[in-house]
Amino acid sequence: MSATTKVPVAVRALESFARRFGGRPAVLARAPGRVTLIGEHVDYSDGLVLPMSIDRDCVSAVRVSNDGRWRAWSDDLQSLAELPDPATASTAPRATGASAWSNLALGVLAGFAREGVRVPPLEMAFASDVPLGAGLSSSAALTVSLATAVAEALSAPLFGIPLARMCQEAESEFGGVPCGMLDPLASALGRADHAMLIDCRSLDVRFVPFPPAARVALLVFDSGVHRSLSDGRYAERRHEVEDAARAAGVGMLRDLDETKLRTLKLPALFERRARHVVREIQRVQLAANALRRDDMELFGLFMAQSHQSLRDDFAVSTPELDALVDEARALGTAGGVYGARLTGAGFGGSVIVLADAARTGIGERIAAGFERRFKRPASWQRVSSAPGAAVIPAARWPAA
Ligand code: ADP
Ligand code: MG
Repeated sequence: MSATTKVPVAVRALESFARRFGGRPAVLARAPGRVTLIGEHVDYSDGLVLPMSIDRDCVSAVRVSNDGRWRAWSDDLQSLAELPDPATASTAPRATGASAWSNLALGVLAGFAREGVRVPPLEMAFASDVPLGAGLSSSAALTVSLATAVAEALSAPLFGIPLARMCQEAESEFGGVPCGMLDPLASALGRADHAMLIDCRSLDVRFVPFPPAARVALLVFDSGVHRSLSDGRYAERRHEVEDAARAAGVGMLRDLDETKLRTLKLPALFERRARHVVREIQRVQLAANALRRDDMELFGLFMAQSHQSLRDDFAVSTPELDALVDEARALGTAGGVYGARLTGAGFGGSVIVLADAARTGIGERIAAGFERRFKRPASWQRVSSAPGAAVIPAARWPAA
């Protein structure tokens, strides 16, 4: 775990805003990253997912500008981008190279324009302590914090599910990633000390109490393999799932059950992809019930099954992710570990471990096992549940 004390993100957002644009922003808003406790690669099949928003944020600082330009600064990437007028965004060329990230910001502004909101020239600065591309949804933290800030700055009445929908569209249409609703919903609506059982078909959200951090520790291990979702393999899985649904004669795999799947005799690849989706949706329901009963050992069992299925049937794990999960499982409940699995879309990213908070040394032991195998350290951090997106009232801005 890093011993360095980091500058809080709200301070970085304010300071970098002042350096880039001068003075203070009009609005600061924060939005968290998330872990998916269980329910991976099922959101775009109308499935059930169980994410939890965590205490890592992207903070957006926003001010209406009088120089006629839309400019965005990422303190994390040290990158300044100039955006086209959001009203003409759908036909404007996308940013490429070092400023490609700014397409996400443009997507959000274009979303407001599409809602009929006149989006004046803006100065925007972002600072985040959600690690980028590690599977903790830094992209939704960025879009949701910006949408929250812009809604406040322009007095546009947008929040909750419609705001999450706008962010999802921003990422699919402008960020080049056909992502689902899971990430923006978790970031927009999360609640402290609760996981969220989201039905991605009805968008019904139920909050399930999650044990306090003093009792259950949530550790996140970075596999060190960062794969941008826009590199094509996420889209490939989505297409496979769509094709599998078509072959099975259903609109969405949500409408399939295991008995029916077995009788269909789909081509092997579709069978495996569909089996993951069908079983994972069922597991999410069972895991949420276990969590409601505070049965962490049973919850951990479902996490293990989820990881196995993502590895074998859905083929999105990596040797690094598997090794981290194996090291955690080797400790087992006797060693204080309830469960472990990859979180996020896979192809790299992070592993989450749920552990007994009273036991010490668990993270160090898993990291040491990883280092023995890969001859490089695994960085890890302890995170905990935190509330969803909000405007930070000026009275609570840090002195910058
Ligand atoms: P994840 O959302 O799991 O972190 P993604 O690949 O979906 O991974 O999103 C990561 C991308 O989102 C980054 O490569 C970058 O383009 C963008 N992004 C996220 N946070 C920031 C930030 N603070 N500043 C600039 N771009 C960001
Ligand atoms: Mg993302």
